[in-house]
Amino acid sequence: MSTLGICKLCEQDKELQLSHAIGNSIFKKIFRANSGKAIAITSGDKPIHYSSDSWAEYQLCSECELMLNNEYERYSLNALRDHTNYIKKDSCLTFPNVNQYKIMLYFLSIYYRSALSNHNAYQNIKINEKHKSLIQQALLNKGHMAYDRLPVKISRLKDYSQDGFSNAGLKEMVCTPFITGSPFVNATLKACFVIEGFYIEIYLHGFKFKNRNDHGVLNPAKDNLYIPFLDFFNVPELVHMVATGFGKYKNGNSTIKE
Ligand SMILES: [Zn+2]
Repeated sequence: MSTLGICKLCEQDKELQLSHAIGNSIFKKIFRANSGKAIAITSGDKPIHYSSDSWAEYQLCSECELMLNNEYERYSLNALRDHTNYIKKDSCLTFPNVNQYKIMLYFLSIYYRSALSNHNAYQNIKINEKHKSLIQQALLNKGHMAYDRLPVKISRLKDYSQDGFSNAGLKEMVCTPFITGSPFVNATLKACFVIEGFYIEIYLHGFKFKNRNDHGVLNPAKDNLYIPFLDFFNVPELVHMVATGFGKYKNGNSTIKE
């Protein structure tokens, strides 16, 4: 099979790599914890099943793939995973010394790659031309991304219910990115996903100016990054996804052995 094609980042005709919108290192960690498999909960009638699919496809050239991994992904995952980087408070994690610009671009790169991917897992994610070009220029270091052009908010998921998800369990959850909100211009529209126990919201439109100082909004001009805790059950889309999965499991629409 020929893997020549147009790279979706630099747009040159090149040999393409098997690319991951949500990085392979995330899936590898989950697969390692579950003897090579993640439990995939998908929409529609498909049974819940074990999966070792990491939602990859031929998308970027090796230079772009390497650049995204080196410049953004590795830094962001290390910064967010390292326990010595933050102070735990009652309602948030405080990161005094992280590069919020790199972390912001890392999450925007996931949105960008998800939206341009033809893989089934990303079919609900769309991007408009203006946002595509903004992110593309910023990732290629040809333009600057102001934090309020496409605001990115990060929260740490928590399950406070009895017998609920453990923190470790939440860190092993990946869900297909989804769009939430209304397409009307003055309403809020967001692209959201879960990664390593963090809930990421990208405001495609409708971000309120008064919310710019809220905890979790990535802003490179600020010294501290405060990541607020967010109750899993306050995110209806996630609850729905897990409930659908559990419903299928109870109805026997599952290939998972007990
Ligand atoms: Zn490229």
